[in-house]
Amino acid sequence: MTLRTIESLGELAGKRVLVRCDLNVPLSDGFITDDGRIRASLPTIRELIAAGASVVVISHLGRPKGEVQAEFSLAPAAHRLGELLGNDVAFARDTVGESAQQTVEALQPGQVAVLENLRFNPEETSKTDAEREAFARRLAAFGDAFVSDGFGVVHRKQASVFELAAALPSAAGRLIERELAVLERLTERPERPYAVVLGGSKVADKLGVIEHLLPRVDSLLIGGGMLFTFLAAQGHRVASSLLEADQLETVRGYLAEAERLGVEVVLPSDVVVASRFAADAQSEIAASDAIEETSFGTAGIGLDIGPETAERFADVIEAARTVFWNGPMGVFEFERFAEGTRVVAGALASASGFTVVGGGDSAAAVRALGFADDDFSHISTGGGASLEFLEGQRLPGLEALGWQ
Ligand code: ADP
Ligand code: MG
Repeated sequence: MTLRTIESLGELAGKRVLVRCDLNVPLSDGFITDDGRIRASLPTIRELIAAGASVVVISHLGRPKGEVQAEFSLAPAAHRLGELLGNDVAFARDTVGESAQQTVEALQPGQVAVLENLRFNPEETSKTDAEREAFARRLAAFGDAFVSDGFGVVHRKQASVFELAAALPSAAGRLIERELAVLERLTERPERPYAVVLGGSKVADKLGVIEHLLPRVDSLLIGGGMLFTFLAAQGHRVASSLLEADQLETVRGYLAEAERLGVEVVLPSDVVVASRFAADAQSEIAASDAIEETSFGTAGIGLDIGPETAERFADVIEAARTVFWNGPMGVFEFERFAEGTRVVAGALASASGFTVVGGGDSAAAVRALGFADDDFSHISTGGGASLEFLEGQRLPGLEALGWQ
């Protein structure tokens, strides 16, 4: 079966449509620092409004762990959505409570409401099927149909992603359609050479991806927090840098497998070492085999790839016909450690091949560094979701929409 799209829902005029968006935007002191995910949600919402439906947007933000926490309120995202739509957006102070009930009931055709953070309710991410099902039924009561468009969460078996799709007539939104079209292009005979660049801090999550990517790619470039586990696997000391000590054997296995398959694994030859984890830390550039030999000794923390490595990565990226990049090369939030990410982003931007950036922080990083969305072939709104798709895994949120 193929993905059910909005067309499959039939006539929507006068209907109330629940839309699962991914409005999980980065916030700093209550201000949205990158509204990319909200903008990515617009095509579906606009289309439903134009069709005469009223739209109830549901989303999560951050990881409030099932408790109401003001800092994770969706209120700023709802406000921004209203600005982008050029229309008032109603906001419910709870997800399935009285405020949500009243807000939804007051909604007229063509109007939009946002309900409070789904993850303020422990049932949303419960491990118990029955709890998620019950929560999905309460959400389903708010709509006549369900459009799933939160690409960043399709790899999660959560109430608003999986169970809700079964509780109402459901279809994928335009964002999910678009994301899938790009990812298929990366999996079905990508133009070669094909380079994958991995970084970021969710090291344990991302290491698993490598095994599946190795048979498919020509070059694998390793930066970000995970590079230290690779250097350690090669016998180097990494001082106080991020390290998954229990993954060393696994990583050695990947390196051996890469060699057997003829895949080039490009590991950093130099890194930027900081005196501590802070924006104003002192820093020195060290060769990858001499990270403990800076003046910070074993207290040093590797927070970026070095300049020589960045240049080498840029060469491989520019020579590739297909590039997928997930995970910043360093702690780009601190200007002093953003250079590796800046050089890699610049290489993707100037590459003539098909270039895809995936991952919430990676997308935020390229925008914060001043790149435009159209400098890349595609900026994916989902990091984990796109990685799992590329791994060939079955994604519950897509299967619930007919995808196989
Ligand atoms: P994405 O959201 O793009 O999938 P991740 O969530 O895996 O990426 O990682 C993003 C984070 O990784 C950023 O906040 C960045 O500061 C951090 N990071 C990158 N390099 C390092 C490093 N060497 N040490 C610690 N954190 C790092
Ligand atoms: Mg992230």
